[in-house]
Amino acid sequence: MNLIVFDLEWNIGYKPKTFTYHGAELTLRGEIIQIGAVRINARGDVLDTFEVNLRPRIFRKLQHHIAKVTGLSQGDLDSGLPMREGLQKFIDWAGPDAELAEWGLDDVPVLKQNLFLVGLDERWPAHWYDLQRLFLQAYPRKEGEGMTLESVVDRLGIPKEEPFHHALDDALYTAKICRKLPLAEGLAAYPTEEEQLREALLDADAAARDVRVFMDRLDHDDYRNAEELNAVFCPECGARLTHDEVWLKRGNTGYYTRSTCPYCGHWYVRFKLSRRDGLHWSFARCTCPPTPEADARWKKQRAAFVERLRRRQARDAQGPADEA
Ligand SMILES: [Zn+2]
Repeated sequence: MNLIVFDLEWNIGYKPKTFTYHGAELTLRGEIIQIGAVRINARGDVLDTFEVNLRPRIFRKLQHHIAKVTGLSQGDLDSGLPMREGLQKFIDWAGPDAELAEWGLDDVPVLKQNLFLVGLDERWPAHWYDLQRLFLQAYPRKEGEGMTLESVVDRLGIPKEEPFHHALDDALYTAKICRKLPLAEGLAAYPTEEEQLREALLDADAAARDVRVFMDRLDHDDYRNAEELNAVFCPECGARLTHDEVWLKRGNTGYYTRSTCPYCGHWYVRFKLSRRDGLHWSFARCTCPPTPEADARWKKQRAAFVERLRRRQARDAQGPADEA
């Protein structure tokens, strides 16, 4: 296994920047200004290191908060490698078969967005891992414990010789954490994106039926607009369900509605969304039988939603009149 632990620093703008990805409008999460990476073996021993500073093209001016956190200067950015050249250098060093590992899940989406923007293949890397997930399996989180790299380095008693938020040093600290984890077992058992999405959708709900995943789509609203996702059939009799016209939010990244079978009564259809790669939406869907609690919650939340909508429409209708 060609395992690369990496860390990115990125610059942001004072105004958000959007770009078009195969027709979908996305918000750029940041423009990479520094890459640090280490190649490790299954024990976490460091075999090789890589680092590069990049010269941003979009967010050219170093944001003051980023300067403070990273210790980088405008001069460091200006003397960095051009974006495409630096990213290509990283890919060449890591290799086409590289599996990337990072502390958290924030860096791969930024990497893929940046690869796309400079015309490199954003399908690389094909596999990546969140090392926090492995860490939490070995060291279950206790009340009040932080998950920043520095707080975990402290908790494990790893000496702090270098500053944090410098890409290569952060990658080296992460490798030191890996040495204290059952790394090989953790990576072998690491769930696929589909499995993670199912897990997030079901959240131990044993009654859910007809669980399906729809991967790598471009439109966030596919759950209600794309026939493939939106057409749901009764788990009992196979008749097509009719959805309520209202979809309610469920958690941070989910939606649900009440759906009626002409023969068997009603169900709740739930979706969970994920944008793990920063470019695509993936969806997991299930159909759940009603319970008295679910019915009460639906009734209450739907009424509140309709009331908010009514107020907003009244305000919008009034708006231009006020200005006039
Ligand atoms: Zn039915």
